[in-house]
Amino acid sequence: MEKYILVTNDDGVLAPGLLALAQEMRKLGRVSVLAPDRNWSGGGHVKTLDRALRVKEYRLADGSAAFASDGAPSDCVSLGILGYFKEKIDLVVSGINVGANLGHDVTYSGTVTAAMESVIMGVPAVAVSLEVLENHLGEMDFQPAANAARKVVERVLEIGLAPEILLNVNVPYLPADEIKGLLMTRQGLRVYHGRLDERVDPRGKPYYWIGGDAPTGVPERGTDVGALADGYVSVTPLQLDLTAYRILSDLNNWNLHEKNS
Ligand code: MN
Repeated sequence: MEKYILVTNDDGVLAPGLLALAQEMRKLGRVSVLAPDRNWSGGGHVKTLDRALRVKEYRLADGSAAFASDGAPSDCVSLGILGYFKEKIDLVVSGINVGANLGHDVTYSGTVTAAMESVIMGVPAVAVSLEVLENHLGEMDFQPAANAARKVVERVLEIGLAPEILLNVNVPYLPADEIKGLLMTRQGLRVYHGRLDERVDPRGKPYYWIGGDAPTGVPERGTDVGALADGYVSVTPLQLDLTAYRILSDLNNWNLHEKNS
């Protein structure tokens, strides 16, 4: 039976990475697009409960129909799975994000948290991000990343994913023939270089930007950061159970459970 794929992103419905992904996903099944009407990059995992959500119809650059909401990427996924589309959604694919989502990035990333929302709702999901080079000028080529996404998603549709698991795919910014292959990885270490930039508004009041240089990472072998540094596509299985199991027994030794201590 034909699979039904929901495509979303966090860069906004008109972002070229979303179009490249939607076009590639159409080779694998029926595709609907529902994405934010603006850029939500860094917006994290959101559930909008205090206001109404609106959905508008758009046209992508190839003339195909798409929908955009004024909510976050995770809201778009909720809308889609909870019934905005009449069909049952088999898979959510989010991206192609401009900029890799590695290590701790996953909690900030609207691209990845859209996929997290999907698995919370019982639908398998894949997030796809493309590394961006600091000195890059002009249009980006999303096709190598779209091809990698197709390969991964094809397998997910064939084999399925365990419940509560999403795949975080990151693609190095290289021509297709220079990508060395695909590695299964764990999350690596991002190194953030945040710096507070205090300025003064026209009324003399201070305001702040969280600025600083772009994050770097520790390119350790076996990690997402390492795979990209070596020229491989990285596929990291993520789960939402963040329990630190190795600490649980230590915490029990704190004896907090004893009534009269
Ligand atoms: Mn983004």
